[in-house]
Amino acid sequence: MESFEELLQQAEVAHGHLCAGQILGVRMARMACRALGVDDPRGADRKRLVCFVEIDRCATDAIGLVTGCRLGRRALKFRDWGKMAATFVDLASGRALRVVARESSRELARERFPDVEPAGAQQKQAYRELTDEELFVSQWVRVELSEAEMPGFRGGRVTCSACGEGVNFGRFERRVAPDGGEILLCRSCAQPQERYWKPVESPEA
Ligand SMILES: [Zn+2]
Ligand SMILES: [Zn+2]
Repeated sequence: MESFEELLQQAEVAHGHLCAGQILGVRMARMACRALGVDDPRGADRKRLVCFVEIDRCATDAIGLVTGCRLGRRALKFRDWGKMAATFVDLASGRALRVVARESSRELARERFPDVEPAGAQQKQAYRELTDEELFVSQWVRVELSEAEMPGFRGGRVTCSACGEGVNFGRFERRVAPDGGEILLCRSCAQPQERYWKPVESPEA
């Protein structure tokens, strides 16, 4: 694995700026990789990790960069829980480590680096220099990953009976049709209350 500074530089380029979140994310991911014995997550070990992130903020980009876990590889799983936390699953060993950023780290930043201003710079310095134990709580956990959640899973593809759109990875629901037969519905058609979009007449509407 590259050094902290090398990874931080790559994270800055990929993310667009160097923020406290990049520092925290790089540290979180490096710590987890070391604990799991995943030395080369983007190289020789690139198929070992699956990562669950619990927030969609700056640090998430850094975690993806260090681990090589990306949405497009089905190796990055998002849980919209608003927590600065992530779980790193090693598929090779079955071990998983959940890491949470401590609430106390901001206060610790003020205590430890009172002369650094502004607050953003203080936070960045603290996130560089505080120990892993000062920054994070981590615990070993078990994550049950079904076959359909695995990065390499090749599920069948069906067509939604209502909208006609193709659905991969078994993300459909079976329903009984009025004639007693079976129909397959995509999630958008099966649960329209969860649909995040609605059609409009014109782009401005
Ligand atoms: Zn950022
Ligand atoms: Zn549909």
